[in-house]
Amino acid sequence: MLDLILDSLRVISLPMKANFRGINHREVALFKGPQGWAEFSPFLEYSDEESSHWLACAIEAATQVPPKLYRSSIGVNATMPALNSQSEIADVLEGFPGCTTVKIKVGTNEKEDLERIATVRKLSPQSKIRIDVNGLWSVEQAAKFLESCGEIEYVEQPCATVAELRELKSRVNVKIVGDEILRKSENPFELDLDGAIDILMLKVQPLGGIKNAHALASHHKLPVVVSSALECAVGIIYGLTLAASFEEMSYDCGLGTGSLLARDVADIPIVDGKMQIQPVEPNFGGLDVSAERFDWWKNRIMRTAALLG
Ligand SMILES: [Mg+2]
Repeated sequence: MLDLILDSLRVISLPMKANFRGINHREVALFKGPQGWAEFSPFLEYSDEESSHWLACAIEAATQVPPKLYRSSIGVNATMPALNSQSEIADVLEGFPGCTTVKIKVGTNEKEDLERIATVRKLSPQSKIRIDVNGLWSVEQAAKFLESCGEIEYVEQPCATVAELRELKSRVNVKIVGDEILRKSENPFELDLDGAIDILMLKVQPLGGIKNAHALASHHKLPVVVSSALECAVGIIYGLTLAASFEEMSYDCGLGTGSLLARDVADIPIVDGKMQIQPVEPNFGGLDVSAERFDWWKNRIMRTAALLG
């Protein structure tokens, strides 16, 4: 398997339009197997242990026949980074034509967060709003914010722990989505999520691939929504494949994040708020990283593959 990966390995760096989760370039590794190109792109600071789930997913994508799909396109949400200027917020919204759901990053500054939500509501009054807190709030902070932010579709990972989420859920009447609680867990199958969350956030790489994501959804018996991990077009197609492989998908998915990239290896346009599942032949022109960065990724892959046994 390692030979297959290293023989076709490319590592590219994609410039982003705006700073998102503290980065302005997204480095990703791609390799090709019998099923086509696959993406391995844990964020740079992730440990080999955590990255091993991402590699398991990439190997599955490169080598396994894809599952049965229930639809050929997926409704996606706009993804709003923690921006504050109205013109920057408007620019981001323009990258998501036809999308009627906006997921807004919040959690670091209550006043700016509420203003960001108000700006999105003003610029896109027809849109449903969901917010993503990345586990930053206490129960108290979350309850207070949810009282003052107006109607939202759901809140994603408002607090860090299952106990806090459960307490919050007993106090507020807003749907709660679990994201980090699953993908940062040592064993997401052992979690008791009863009364803590309403919806599972499934991200195909962090959860170790499509089969594992389905196993997790069946185990917890909760509705699901699918989002990206800021992948390039190759990984986005695999996320779309996961979303299409659920018979039931009641929520717009966070898979339009290619719009946050200034360059990508392929264009998967958002048309009327939807993305089509299509074969992708990456165009690497001018995107390859330096020899030094390539070696860094090659070493990371060799160490991580060793953990998979
Ligand atoms: Mg999230």
